[in-house]
Amino acid sequence: MTVTAARTELERTRFFIDGEWVMPRGSDTHVALEAATGTPLGTASLGTDADIDAAVHAAHRALEGPWGHTTAAERATVMRRFADALSARADETSTLVSRENGMPIALSNAFNGAAPAGLLRMYADLIETMPLEEARPSPSGATIVRREPVGVVGAITPWNYPQVLAMMKIAPALAAGCTVVLKPSPETALDGYILGDAAIEAGLPPGVLNIVLAGREAGAALVSHPLVDKIAFTGSTAAGRLIGAECGRLIRRCTLELGGKSAAIVLDDTDIATFVAGLGDASFQNNGQTCTVQSRILAPRSRYAEVVDAVAHFARDMIVGDPLDPAVTCGPMASQAQLERVLGYIDAGKRSSARLVAGGARPAALSRGWFVEPTVFADVDNSERIAQEEIFGPVVTITPYDGDDEAVRLANDSEYGLGGSVWTSDEERGLAVARRIRTGTIGVNYYLQDLGAPFGGMKSSGLGRELGPEALDNYLEYKSIYASADQLHR
Ligand code: NAD
Repeated sequence: MTVTAARTELERTRFFIDGEWVMPRGSDTHVALEAATGTPLGTASLGTDADIDAAVHAAHRALEGPWGHTTAAERATVMRRFADALSARADETSTLVSRENGMPIALSNAFNGAAPAGLLRMYADLIETMPLEEARPSPSGATIVRREPVGVVGAITPWNYPQVLAMMKIAPALAAGCTVVLKPSPETALDGYILGDAAIEAGLPPGVLNIVLAGREAGAALVSHPLVDKIAFTGSTAAGRLIGAECGRLIRRCTLELGGKSAAIVLDDTDIATFVAGLGDASFQNNGQTCTVQSRILAPRSRYAEVVDAVAHFARDMIVGDPLDPAVTCGPMASQAQLERVLGYIDAGKRSSARLVAGGARPAALSRGWFVEPTVFADVDNSERIAQEEIFGPVVTITPYDGDDEAVRLANDSEYGLGGSVWTSDEERGLAVARRIRTGTIGVNYYLQDLGAPFGGMKSSGLGRELGPEALDNYLEYKSIYASADQLHR
């Protein structure tokens, strides 16, 4: 069944295992609700440990079978067909995700519609040109240094950017010759089927990609399954700690892309119009439901009132409503639980010494759906909960500082280190400040993720990097074969 303007309900009760849509082993189902209305959008089955086990075995068979013996060029060809099949479904995908999690449609078009196919093409190109075997002179003759696939990958994803976050794992894994079991989040229960349909159309061999929607218990079964070689996880720091501990116990490779509480540093020479033009992407992207949002704004005391005024106006001017309306700049929260979490933090802000300068409630005009007004607290001490904990909603804090050194100290005074930005009319000065921030990504005068460059976190924001050519390292193992000097001349 396809999504139509009439908003048909979807039934996605099968799992994609071994190249087919198969019946679940258990009977748990999940009713997905539309973020903008709170009404049913569709029904999906939730997988059990037995479904995960079947998917991992399929992935393992594919790895041991023909996929494990493909050349890079053969994999690249299949990946490009997969990209074409996803491109043909891009509108369907981005619309469905917006309905599931409230993402404004233009953003969804970019990250759920276009980016997954782009990543497949990017990694197809990279693997075709990357030398996977090289002979080097050695004291005894020659050593052949090979790069081999890590093996079966368990990919676990959150609900906020479900398609691109899944493909940030699937594309480099397939390029490297790995096979994948994807476990998406129940909060975005429905869009995963599009990957399965596209994989079938593209002729992806059975077992190379398997998709089982499941909750955290079955997710834990994937993490500890004996036939899984590597876990690629994106989600909360709390879950990442548990998964990292289990992978440590098993000596299992893992990458962890976790939470954030990033800072936007407004330097005293900032052009306010430039700052305001970039504020939506930097601090409110996807209704604040983005791991990299710069929800802590650090403002120089010499221009403090001006910055507070600009941010408050920006927040008040955001258009809150149906994420499918292209004019809307702030959609709803993804779930009732997420709404309650964000409102809880707004209450904590109101009880603190901070000054509420915009928002602070649910929008009166929207009687259904999980909407929150874009909210700004000024005069926030950086040690307050609202400045230290990840809120994951359209809520920002503003903290005054004196001098660049204090701005750097405050930006780094966080357990996280994922995103960030520096705003200035002097790019060299901005770059100098950016180099001092302990974070995985940071922008000068804008913040937009570059899918061609490594992405990930420092401190409690994660381990390892996704994206860019560097992400292939996550899915390849080195092997050194000691041989004779004859190998140097082949
Ligand atoms: P979450 O940690 O609750 O869940 C993420 C996924 O992990 C879901 O599929 C969930 O079912 C699964 N899961 C949870 N506990 C598990 C466990 N013990 N074992 C196995 N699987 C488990 O996170 P969420 O609420 O879905 O997503 C929001 C979080 O994700 C935020 O903290 C956000 O910052 C983070 N995030 C990080 C990045 C990044 O690249 N660093 C990107 C997007 C989101």
